[in-house]
Amino acid sequence: MIRFSFRRQGSLWRPTGDDTREDWLGRHGLKKGIYEESLALVKRCKVMMLRNEGLTVTREAEEQMDIFLYGTLPTLGEAKECVELHKRRHKRKLINLKAWPTRKWPMPIIYKYDGAHTTEDVLMIEAAIKHWESETCIRFKRVATNATVTEQHILFTAGSTCSSFVGRVKKSNAFPQQINLMSEYCTQWLGFPVHEIGHAIGFWHEHVRPDRDDYVTVNMSYVYPRFRNNFLKLNKTLVDIDMSVPYDYGSVMHYAATELSIGRLHAIEPKNPLYLKTMGQRVGLSFFDAKLANLAYCKDKCAGVKPHVRCYRGGYRDPNNCRKCKCPEGFGRSQCRRPARANGGCRPTSSSIIYVRSRTEKCLWTRNYNQADGKGAYRHGDKCNWFLKARAGKKIVVRFAGRRFSTYCDYDSPSCFQWVEIKYKKDLALRGPRFCCNPGDIPKFNGKNTLTSESNKMMVIFNAEYPIFKINNYYTHDVPVHYMKGFKLCYKLA
Ligand SMILES: [Zn+2]
Repeated sequence: MIRFSFRRQGSLWRPTGDDTREDWLGRHGLKKGIYEESLALVKRCKVMMLRNEGLTVTREAEEQMDIFLYGTLPTLGEAKECVELHKRRHKRKLINLKAWPTRKWPMPIIYKYDGAHTTEDVLMIEAAIKHWESETCIRFKRVATNATVTEQHILFTAGSTCSSFVGRVKKSNAFPQQINLMSEYCTQWLGFPVHEIGHAIGFWHEHVRPDRDDYVTVNMSYVYPRFRNNFLKLNKTLVDIDMSVPYDYGSVMHYAATELSIGRLHAIEPKNPLYLKTMGQRVGLSFFDAKLANLAYCKDKCAGVKPHVRCYRGGYRDPNNCRKCKCPEGFGRSQCRRPARANGGCRPTSSSIIYVRSRTEKCLWTRNYNQADGKGAYRHGDKCNWFLKARAGKKIVVRFAGRRFSTYCDYDSPSCFQWVEIKYKKDLALRGPRFCCNPGDIPKFNGKNTLTSESNKMMVIFNAEYPIFKINNYYTHDVPVHYMKGFKLCYKLA
């Protein structure tokens, strides 16, 4: 069996290896002189930023620095701006589109391919585009590789990197803005192209938000010196503060704990350790990712559209269908008050409100969990939402039960690619801690057996997306060699 793609990789690429600097410059539409000027400015800026963080910068580390800024390619203007900003020594996530309106794309965003991708790559990139279109009002229009385009557009290239500019980069209209998605590398999970398209739409990385220190600890010494700039906090002026949405561990723009780290140490440690595996997902846009993009691009889509629909739990009117709400994960049914309809064979039902009324434990579990070993397994696409509710003033306590716990795992990453998520915070729009992989035993909560809700409500979500596997000549999500038992979770009044 061959996997659809070879392995997960970081979202960055440096001009080394078999790609010459000239090849690379050409692919990014950069002139040598401009590249060198930008590089010198970026280096200067990075040294200033690192010193502002109290770090010493050796000559060697300085030489190793590359042109990437915050993990993305800066324009010459951005490189200059970076130096200006950090001269004054001060220190969210969407680019400030109000300050730079030209960074916003007109609709539809025209794009084409450079022709170097495989059919599988194109399928995955097309799926990522559909995903953006179904979650937001942003629209794309594909044109043929040899078509002449007079407007500014995106060109998907298949060089040796996963990289993109942030926002629409103002160049001549004929200049295609490149999103580089290395064949088979950057198309393994839907979330990779979704992430890079996100940069082009205007997203920075989540873990560099100006308020990130309240949510994560960044251990700079665990990061390879040449990558440290990808972990530096963004200056507030680079971000649209009005569009504040909460810090989101589950953002597709968040790095995983071990991304670009030395020896797989945790370069990013969540302040609440329960969130370790929520960070770094590359499955798709989170509720808040889509919300932020919709605020920036689709804000007035539903204004004045009747009937007015009220949305609960942080939901908002869906710009693709103003009669409905876009709901936080797990919720749905037009107003976000009830759990979203689910598929699959979770028990006792895949999607329901469960009233928690007593201190006698009851349980829920994945398809076939209770069958004898060798027979039980959940399937690709199983997705379940259980909304646990107790009387006002009461709290709910849960624990993992049964003898085993196992979900499919990508062992290269600490993030969950299939998971049970427990939203136990008061704000049910926020993503919850995720549990996944095969710990051999049943998971604990920071060393404890139980987890208690902050309010009288709790949302439990199960998500089972398998990557696509290639078996002989066909593609499938079924993974015959993987036997995943799933989980059993029991609840009662605290
Ligand atoms: Zn990125």
